[in-house]
Amino acid sequence: MAPIARFSPPVPSFEGVRIGVDMGGTKCAALAVTGDGAILAETSVPTPVGGDAVIDAIVGVVQVLRADAAVRDAGGECGIGVGVPGLVGTDGVMRYAPHLFGVVEIDLRAILRERLDAPSLVLENDNTAATWGERSVGAARGFDDVLYVGLGTGIGGGVVVGGHLVRGRSGFAGEIGHLTIDVNGETCVCGRRGCWELVASGSGLARLAGRQGEIVTEAARAGDPVALGVLGRFAGGVAVGLADLVMTLDPACIVLGGGVLDPAEPLLGLIAAALGPAMGAAAAHRPMPEIRAAALGKRAGGIGAALLVGS
Ligand SMILES: [Zn+2]
Repeated sequence: MAPIARFSPPVPSFEGVRIGVDMGGTKCAALAVTGDGAILAETSVPTPVGGDAVIDAIVGVVQVLRADAAVRDAGGECGIGVGVPGLVGTDGVMRYAPHLFGVVEIDLRAILRERLDAPSLVLENDNTAATWGERSVGAARGFDDVLYVGLGTGIGGGVVVGGHLVRGRSGFAGEIGHLTIDVNGETCVCGRRGCWELVASGSGLARLAGRQGEIVTEAARAGDPVALGVLGRFAGGVAVGLADLVMTLDPACIVLGGGVLDPAEPLLGLIAAALGPAMGAAAAHRPMPEIRAAALGKRAGGIGAALLVGS
């Protein structure tokens, strides 16, 4: 008998195999996952130049996974999610991707649906997809109010409120790297001044230290007091932006990912310690969010994109 009414489940129903594509600035990576995020197969190609070539690359990696024996044995794919770096509208149009040359104002979702004959195809910003991955099967599993912050060359992020991804009116929510934390600061690539990512990203750490961030982290892990001091000041800059976001969103869990947090310690502990003071007097009167290191690493975007299918 047919059900009388259909309700959307509060959390995604994780049945069937999905293919997730993470179209990065240097690599187009794809994976096939089961409903609980277990990886059946993976593949990748270098990111090509130009809109048509980027589309061909996405189609190519999906076809490789569709032909994979593990995917076929599991019944074939039931949907495709694609994460892309840049402004993706809720209408499926790739508006602007500064790291993908030649990819501007392309109706990517419609093109990919046709090329791949895939009615169930989701297109999403890569950091938004990574947020969903960490929230679904990663470090923030079980939390309904989550802030994801990826500290890489810049800062990317995503927000889950009440169990739902926040996309905003047009799909452009979560551009947290460009919060202004110093109105008199340096000019950012985005054209504004004093953006958070100028001080709190991997590039910001390298500027602060006068050398590569990895070298500072390594020295700090070995107990070097100067390196620990630099990381402490860097953590303070991260905490300033986090405090603003905590005041805005009141998340239960903050997931910190990206290359700067690999390895996570000692930076994760320094950031957690700096958050309270950055919150001011209110910190003593409110529960602070749990701060966790991302669990899915570089696969967060692909896994999240895949799990967005049908969610
Ligand atoms: Zn900026």
